[in-house]
Amino acid sequence: MSTDDLVTFMLQVCHRMIGLNRKKLNLIVSVRKVVTVPYEEYLAMLKAEKQQELLEQLAVMVRYGRHGNSNIRVPRQEWQEMTAAIREAGLGNSIRDALDLMRQRAMRESGEVIRVVPAAATSIQALEKVTMMSDGIDDTEEIIKCIFCLEEMAKGCEVTRMPCSHIFHGPCIEKWLKERSHMCPICRFKLPTGD
Ligand SMILES: [Zn+2]
Ligand SMILES: [Zn+2]
Repeated sequence: MSTDDLVTFMLQVCHRMIGLNRKKLNLIVSVRKVVTVPYEEYLAMLKAEKQQELLEQLAVMVRYGRHGNSNIRVPRQEWQEMTAAIREAGLGNSIRDALDLMRQRAMRESGEVIRVVPAAATSIQALEKVTMMSDGIDDTEEIIKCIFCLEEMAKGCEVTRMPCSHIFHGPCIEKWLKERSHMCPICRFKLPTGD
């Protein structure tokens, strides 16, 4: 039935009711509209939703780790499961890919221009080098990741420690301090700037 036919029909019904000497006539018309979304579009919506959910989970896993404001410490199995989920959701091949994606989105959304303030060369040179020791919680098989390259910092590996006690691979933190920022990427502890 076309809209015109429908209106004509409704008017006819009204006339008939008025003919019955009714004093008042309430007419309630409700229109139900069904919007059809193509199946592919529906699948894309579901996928985007799932991706968003996963990225939020990843943000929590990476940012808060197991011990609050510290290096990324995650049980190996959890890390592997997250990697598999990221591949399955089409967010890239690795956790690193997903983190890059997250960073890009955040930068696009904030429109923030990042100002580069490198640390003083002398303060970079003075950073302490330490050897990773077993931390005595082997049972949980937690792995400690360098937040830059996401590679494991295994027992026996030489790492660089910031004065705030956060640890990273030497080359990774040095590149950051020289080219990006004088602050610890985990806690924003400030190293002296400029020479
Ligand atoms: Zn690294
Ligand atoms: Zn720190």
